[in-house]
Amino acid sequence: MEGLRRAIPQPQTELRYDNPYQLLVAVILSAQCTDARVNQVTPALFEAFPDIDALAEATPEQVYPLIRSVSYPNNKARHLVGMARMVRDAFGGVIPPSPADLQKLPGVGRKTAQVVASVAFDRDALPVDTHVFRVANRIGLVRNADTPLKVERQLKRLLPKETWSEAHHLLILHGRYTCTARQPKCDRCPITEACLYYERLQKLPAPLDGLDPKQGTYYCKTCDHYVDQPASKVDRYGVQQIACPRCGSMNVFESKSGRSTKKVPDFRVH
Ligand code: SF4
Repeated sequence: MEGLRRAIPQPQTELRYDNPYQLLVAVILSAQCTDARVNQVTPALFEAFPDIDALAEATPEQVYPLIRSVSYPNNKARHLVGMARMVRDAFGGVIPPSPADLQKLPGVGRKTAQVVASVAFDRDALPVDTHVFRVANRIGLVRNADTPLKVERQLKRLLPKETWSEAHHLLILHGRYTCTARQPKCDRCPITEACLYYERLQKLPAPLDGLDPKQGTYYCKTCDHYVDQPASKVDRYGVQQIACPRCGSMNVFESKSGRSTKKVPDFRVH
């Protein structure tokens, strides 16, 4: 956390909003969509529907054209109007601050509720989105956590309560700009020393020179022979690896490139 704090001095949401209503709308829109895209549509949306009452009076058909460039605009238009009507009718027109009440609103799941409770109302919450999920697993902050809820529970046990909100933003921003899904930028990462993924990367063998692809697609360094039909094996991290059919070693190289076939865990979330 210290390393991330130094690299990201202002850990906060990149969604633009002025009040809890605007934040809730923006977070609903941001599901499966980038914050930058959401920030493009919200100014016109908030001008047309400046508060809960205005949105509650609208129909999804009126909202749709203003949000058509975000993902799933049909569903989100229905959710936004449904959310506004419920806030008006069940909560007196005021956005409820507790995650439990927020989660009763249409279009608001656990993550959205926690983001709004934490950012708008300063509640202790640690929302887990795709970046937090991936980064926490990759670094090794959590173990065998294959659902967002498991990640959330493990992180909450690990981190002091007063840092939950900050940790959420630090991990999101780190995941968005440095520890990206497909190609993490480990060469400019401030926390390589604390990262298990990086540690495993360092253990991968360097490419082997002088292999002859004509003798076979793969080369096993342990028993020194070429092979076209490799076996496969699951390593101690649960990753399926190519193995030598003769000796079972995973010290196998592609004979064309000389690169090791060893894979490190893939924490992408789709
Ligand atoms: S070292 Fe690489 S994998 Fe580890 S946190 Fe940094 S960017 Fe992510």
